[in-house]
Amino acid sequence: MRHGTVTEPARILVVGGGYVGMYTALRLQRQLRAELRAGAAEIVVVTPEPYMTYQPFLPEAAAGSISPRHVVVPLRRVLDRCRIVIGEVRSVDHAKRTATLATLATAEEGTGAVDLTYDELVLAPGSVSRTLPVPGLLDHGIGFKTVEEAIGLRNHVIEQMDIASSTRDPAIRDAALTFVFVGGGYAGVEALAELEDMARYTARYYHNLKPEDLRWVLVEASDRILPEVGAEMGRYAIRELRGRNIDVRLETRLESCEDRVAVLSDGTRLPTRTVVWTAGVKPAPVLAATDLPLNERGRLRCTSRLAVEGVDHAWAAGDAAAVPDVTAEEPGRECAPNAQHAVRQAKVLAENITASLRGQPLKEYEHAYAGSVASLGLHKGVAHVYGRKLKGYPAWLMHRAYHLSRVPTFNRKARVLAEWTLSGLFKREIVSLGSLEHPRAEFELAAAPPPDHGDKPSS
Ligand SMILES: Cc1cc2nc3c(=O)[nH]c(=O)nc-3n(C[C@H](O)[C@H](O)[C@H](O)COP(=O)(O)OP(=O)(O)OC[C@H]3O[C@@H](n4cnc5c(N)ncnc54)[C@H](O)[C@@H]3O)c2cc1C
Repeated sequence: MRHGTVTEPARILVVGGGYVGMYTALRLQRQLRAELRAGAAEIVVVTPEPYMTYQPFLPEAAAGSISPRHVVVPLRRVLDRCRIVIGEVRSVDHAKRTATLATLATAEEGTGAVDLTYDELVLAPGSVSRTLPVPGLLDHGIGFKTVEEAIGLRNHVIEQMDIASSTRDPAIRDAALTFVFVGGGYAGVEALAELEDMARYTARYYHNLKPEDLRWVLVEASDRILPEVGAEMGRYAIRELRGRNIDVRLETRLESCEDRVAVLSDGTRLPTRTVVWTAGVKPAPVLAATDLPLNERGRLRCTSRLAVEGVDHAWAAGDAAAVPDVTAEEPGRECAPNAQHAVRQAKVLAENITASLRGQPLKEYEHAYAGSVASLGLHKGVAHVYGRKLKGYPAWLMHRAYHLSRVPTFNRKARVLAEWTLSGLFKREIVSLGSLEHPRAEFELAAAPPPDHGDKPSS
């Protein structure tokens, strides 16, 4: 069908294997089963990693309550009727229905990039951390969007405790035990709360560290945290965190973090080796390398039918797409970048692509925000869902039940449930496997020539 030929299958190119990419491709492979079998259609998913990350579980992965492999969903297994290409789309020329991608093979072959033509385009590259030009941030900041970052941060926190425990220098000890998190949305608050909880527990295994020695600081530019759960539950979350000695600073910004000192807008100087940046997201950079319309924040302009505005055969959803919120009272509001919208949009998106291929009418995306749940550490949480407010243990239970019901595939649900059950029966995992990040280090040391001490051979 591409370029007027009748023999080639209609190729649907899905850019991104996250929430939208995976769920859209999953639904399409079910709906287009007959076309796929007959060779009339083909679904190609281009994604940098061979897995979808269930991001709401990252804080629990950082705390060690869920192992990293169970936070991700293997795309090749789930999307068994799609073609998975591990790579990154660098640009899209939609007028020519062509995407340019870099894969591991193009890097190896030295060819740089290859072109891939398509008939229908689904752009779902999500978002990246929205950073500000804060001096030192690029060199010292740690993000919290990927499973690698979550596990890296866990290892880093435990490593800081090891440093603090073994140094005799009080300045090094204080800096190692100070943890600064910037951004009070669910990613920052959950990550901080889970890690603080884990470190508090871990401290009991150190002869010279007490939980009170660790300093946790949450820096938030606005006057509230967790806007997703509403003002009242946000205030509760602040009280809960402060009750654990966590220093929550509202209407405060990070001014710089050079030379291992975080400087805040209220004048505080915090020597620290840990600055975690969770101050919002911005659309994936690849969108700027397309000939498709973007809004002032860089999201793809979309209709409520999830089609990219003003062009045919291009679709988008999730964090990358500015989809009108048709349920909002104020005109012009777009759906917030969250998983709640991403999953539901993916369903409508797949149905609309199928309908468009079959010449049927398209559906409008409509979903009123249902509220949110957030974990504040083991057995602690806050929730505001469908008007119902919960806090403490019931909210934490609801958080777990909700996310267990949402994590894709029965296989993952069973594994996560088994892990939670086991961790309820046994002691918490307190090990840091930071050396996994440098697997060759030991071998390099063993294989290195012995040091030359300047000894002369005796004659
Ligand atoms: C720590 C954390 C906790 C969260 N908790 C919640 C929560 O409790 N509730 C909630 O509603 N939301 C939550 N979110 C937000 C939610 O995860 C996102 O809104 C959701 O993932 C958006 O889905 P998406 O498909 O648009 O993007 P993603 O799921 O991020 O997927 C984008 C995919 O595109 C890939 N990609 C990027 N660029 C390219 C390219 N050039 N070529 C090919 N592929 C590319 C990426 O690698 C990724 O695989 C959380 C987010 C984080 C970080």
